[in-house]
Formats: sequence, C-alpha cells, structure tokens
Amino acid sequence: MRKWYIGKADAIREKHEAILVTSKKDWTHFTHDFKTGDEIFLQRVAFGSSLPEFFSVTEPLREDVGEWLSVQPALRYVELHAADACNLNCRACSHFAPLFPKQAYSEVAQILQDVKELNRLFPYVRHIRILGGEPLLNPHILDVVTGIRQLYRESRLSIVTNGLLLEKLGREFADILVENRAELMITCYPPIKSVVKAAAERFRSWNVPTFVSPETAYFHLFLKEKGESGFSSCTIKGCYFLRNGTLWRCALSALIGVYNNAFSMKFPTEQGIRLTEHENAFSVLSKLSHEGKLCYYCQDDGYLMPWMTTTSPAAEDWIHGTKEHE
Ligand code: SF4
Repeated sequence: MRKWYIGKADAIREKHEAILVTSKKDWTHFTHDFKTGDEIFLQRVAFGSSLPEFFSVTEPLREDVGEWLSVQPALRYVELHAADACNLNCRACSHFAPLFPKQAYSEVAQILQDVKELNRLFPYVRHIRILGGEPLLNPHILDVVTGIRQLYRESRLSIVTNGLLLEKLGREFADILVENRAELMITCYPPIKSVVKAAAERFRSWNVPTFVSPETAYFHLFLKEKGESGFSSCTIKGCYFLRNGTLWRCALSALIGVYNNAFSMKFPTEQGIRLTEHENAFSVLSKLSHEGKLCYYCQDDGYLMPWMTTTSPAAEDWIHGTKEHE
C-alpha cells in the first residue's frame, strides 16, 4: 500500500514521486472528505501522464487530515476477447476480426486465468468489457461472465455485441446475465439496426440492462505511415486489453501482430506487460501510461471511412491514405 499526498500539484510535484489532487466521483471537485472504500482519481503528474488514474481508498484519513491517504491502485477499465472471430466482419475492424479463422474463440480457462492474474494485482476494476470479434460466438460465454463476476463482485460487467445472435437467445440466457449483474452493450450497425433494436427490447423486458449505441455509420482508420505519435490525442487511451496473461495499452498494440502476419507488414509489435512478472500494480500502471512505438503509426482522430463489411480483407483496409479511402 502506498500513501499519496492530497494537495495542490505545484506544491508537491518536487517533493513526491507522484501526486496529487482529486475528489470522489468527479475529479474536478476537490474534497478532503475521504472514507475507506471511496473511489478517487489521482492525476499522476510525476509520470508525465495527463490521464487521471483511478484508485480506491484503503485507509481513512486519520492524522494530518487533508494531507495523506492510503490508496490501492485500481483500473478504470479493461477489455478482453471471448471470441476473436466475428459474424459481421467490419472492414477496418480495430480488433482485426476479419483476419481470424471463423471458429476462433478463446478458451474459458485461459480467460479466467488471465482475469485471476489481473485480480492479484488489481482487485478492483471499475468496468470490464467482454468483446471480440463477436463474443456471443463463444458457446461458453456465460461461463466467462459467471467466472469474471466471481472474481470481481463490484465491477460493472458488459458484453459488447453486434446483437445478431441475440435473436436466438432466450429468457434462460437473460436470467444468468441478471444473476451476474451483467449488461449488454449493442453496437448498432446500419443494416441490422431493426433486428438489434427488437432484441434489445426483449432483453430489457427480462431486466437485463441493455444499451444500444448510436448508429455506427463510419469507422476510424487507425494505421498510417510513421508520423507524429497519436498517443496524446488518443481516445482509446486507458482502454487496457487483457490477453494470454498480458496487459496491453490497447487492443491495437496487442493484435497488430495478427495484421502483420496476414499481410507481411512490419508495424512495430510490443511484448505487453506479463502480469506474472509483476508484484507492483503501481509499476504496471506507470508502464501503461506511456506511449509505445506503434503510437507513431496510429491516429484515431478524424480518419473515417463509411462503415461496411468485408469478405476479402486487404492490407489497405486498415491504412489511412491509401487510394480507396480518399
Ligand atoms: S497504438 Fe497508441 S495511439 Fe494507437 S490506439 Fe493504441 S495507445 Fe492509442
């Protein structure tokens, strides 16, 4: 456990390894009124990150009220695949689903081993999203949900789906989601919007919290020729990706090897952070808060192409500036 100084950044920046200022739910409102179990944000000025990190209070303030606080690092967000393949195959999918074999879904035992390892370092994660590919292609998806819920009793837990398979799932499936306080987040693509909206209504009527995104008419193209790092403006920042015992800065950095292999490309690959090799969650957070080599080939603000599916993916589908996208 580490003690953190709560105060004004400028006053303490030189004095302490890491920082700073915060509040309970809303980090723009500063307060000293912390209790055990409160959720707080700390901005880690000393690590050069502009991203507020999320912590939970493990010890109430006793002496020096308003100065010191014991906290435990927490993750605001983590995502993982229950299936790599997809039944829709969007062109330029940022998780490269069209490049995986049709039956590619993750083994439940491996997923839960990964989550267990994560839990050892980060006993609190605010939001866990199970996605893919299309996660409902995994025939054992409910085992994934129940297994994660056993390890993370308090986290928000979502399945992110294109909704196509919901038509085939009934009350029994819904009841297990309700039991495990899991929700559905449906990404709404143009040709299937009426199907998924109807499915969403059905699941809502069975008390499953179900959210449908605004219609996705455009897709971002992330990859580009080497240039300025996209990290500072990255909207994916903080969307950590868990796979095979490793935590990654983002899904793109975890999966770029799949794209490289498919098209003999050479975008930079990274090792990610092997959780078993770490005892200190603070050092994991510190590593995650820095850009990687791939960030110099990546930009997620503004390079859009109309949403479409693909049955014959090509390398150019993912790269901004190739002829077809201009
Ligand atoms: S590679 Fe870097 S810039 Fe691109 S999505 Fe990942 S963190 Fe963001």
